[in-house]
Formats: sequence, structure tokens, C-alpha cells
Amino acid sequence: YEAKRRRAGWLAYDPRFDHGSAATLTLLGEMRRALQRQELRLFVQPKLHLLDGTLVGAEALVRWQHPERGLVPPLEFIPFAEETGFIHELSLWVIDEAARLLARWGPIGLLPRLSVNLSVHDLMKADLVTQLAARLQHHGASPQALCLEITESAIMNDPQRALQTLQALKALGCKLSIDDFGTGYSSYATLRNLPVDELKIDMSFVRAMEKVPKDAMIVRSIIEVAHNLNLSVVAEGVENEAIWQQLATLGCDEAQGWHIGRPMPVESFEAWARERAAAGLSPAAVPGQHR
Ligand code: C2E
Ligand code: MG
Ligand code: MG
Ligand code: MG
Repeated sequence: YEAKRRRAGWLAYDPRFDHGSAATLTLLGEMRRALQRQELRLFVQPKLHLLDGTLVGAEALVRWQHPERGLVPPLEFIPFAEETGFIHELSLWVIDEAARLLARWGPIGLLPRLSVNLSVHDLMKADLVTQLAARLQHHGASPQALCLEITESAIMNDPQRALQTLQALKALGCKLSIDDFGTGYSSYATLRNLPVDELKIDMSFVRAMEKVPKDAMIVRSIIEVAHNLNLSVVAEGVENEAIWQQLATLGCDEAQGWHIGRPMPVESFEAWARERAAAGLSPAAVPGQHR
């Protein structure tokens, strides 16, 4: 925990936080107010099909527009939110926003699917699925258009309970993705039993694959495993054309990364997608899945 705290940013370094629970409560209050004052922002990063460049989806990534500290990246407050249990409120806010965006973008064909990140705490929360379903329904968004990204380690923390939650999400119609794949400890046995649709290759392998043959081999192996299990596979951290080409050659299905687009504020993303559509790269109503 200490190491995690040191790795994180200003929340972790904040001297008030080191002085015990009163400080923690202060910060927790600050995060709650952030939610009420609408200081949290969803940024959206596009995901393209590697064969034809179709816009197949996007990932919602949270930021905190802090009145004094500016735009705070998620790794500087997600760990704190997880430690304090605030993550659940945060996740429900993210899900609500995502549902709102899907209801706005789905019908006009701007975006077929949006992915959100769940943390281990969300998987353990009994009412997650009910809450999520209620928010989708409230906005009139289709569960099929929502994809939930979960890391291997979040699943392996308590595979039994995680499986229950994942099955319930699946039954609702949501898509499931294993994030940062290759960095955790999931076995083939676990993978085979999980109701997931997608593997997301960890950025560390993708970014290095251009120069390090071993990383290219790992990427190739993950693509093979995914396809053998009939899963779609996405590479994250695609930073240049060479990596894009390499992934296409290896038969990877989808790509996400700075080469395609950075995570953008909602309005910018909308403009970006409209511009692409106008340029003739029309986003399909249904994503081009591997299967
Ligand atoms: P992640 O889910 O693996 O998200 C991918 C991260 O890689 C994002 O960082 C994204 O901005 C970054 N990225 C995308 N393309 C590239 C690229 O080409 N090069 C490089 N160097 N980086 C790229 P971000 O937005 O800082 O998020 C970091 C992590 O914070 C996420 O990793 C996720 O684990 C967590 N996170 C973000 N939003 C949420 C959220 O709403 N809920 C939860 N529970 N976690 C979140
Ligand atoms: Mg993710
Ligand atoms: Mg990831
Ligand atoms: Mg990550």
C-alpha cells in the first residue's frame, strides 16, 4: 500500500493524507464535492478496426478538473478512491455518463460502443449490476453498446465472486474485456471459464514491439490465444504507423492509441468522429467484430 501510495501523485504526497484518518476524511470530502460540483470529466479515446479503419468503439477515461491543480490524471486519484471505497460512487458516475453518451451517439451512428473501466471493488459490490442496468435504462442506452474493462488482477483477487458479477453483466447483454492482458496471472483455465468477449493487450508489449523482438512475440502469442478462444483482440498504446502495420500483419482486430487519437474531451471527440465521417470514413452501426 505504501509503495502504491508513493507511486501515485499529489493525493498520495499530500502531507495531510499522511497524518491519519482526519486527513483522509478531508480528501474524501474533497472528492465527494468534486462529484457534486461536476469537476470530474470523462475523456474519450477512439478505437479503430485494424483492417478497414472503422470506428468500432471508444474508451471512457476519467479526469479530475481540479479548481487549483488543473486536470488531474486518473492514476493520481483512482488508488485513493479505491483505498477509501469512494471508487464505487465514482464508477457509478462514470457508468451514468457513459450511458448518457451512448444514448446520444448510438442512434445517430456516431459511436457503436463505449468501454468503461471497472475496479476490483466494483466486482465485489452486490448491487453493481442492478445499479448499472438502472442507469442504462434511465438514459435509454442499450446494454450491448456498453463494454466493461476489467484487469486480470481484479478478477484473480476473488475469481469466484468476480465470475458471478461477470456472468450477471453478460446476462444483461454487456460486452466484457480483459484490460492490460499479459501483465496478470490468469491461467488458460480461468480464461476459458470467463464470459469475456475481448482481450486488450497491455500497452507495455505494444509500445515495445517495434524494437524488441520478444515483445513482438508476446503480442503475436496473445493474438493467437485470443483467436483460438474465439475472442476479439485489441492493442492499446499504438503510437505510430509502424506498430499499426505490424499489428495488422499479425491479424490483431482493433487498435487504440495516440497514433489514432488521444483521449479527448467529449465535445472534441464528437467533432473528431464527425470529421472522420464527413471524410468518408463512415462509422459502422455495428462494430466489425472478429467473430
Ligand atoms: P487503462 O484502462 O489501461 O487505460 C489506458 C491508458 O493508456 C490511459 O491512461 C490512456 O490515456 C493511455 N494511452 C492510450 N493510448 C496511449 C498511447 O498510445 N501511448 C501511451 N503512452 N498511453 C496511451 P489514463 O487515461 O491516464 O488512465 C490510466 C488508468 O487509469 C487506466 O488504464 C485505468 O486503469 C484507470 N482509469 C481511467 N479511468 C478510469 C475509470 O473511470 N475508472 C477506473 N476504475 N479506472 C480508470
Ligand atoms: Mg482500460
Ligand atoms: Mg489498459
Ligand atoms: Mg493500464
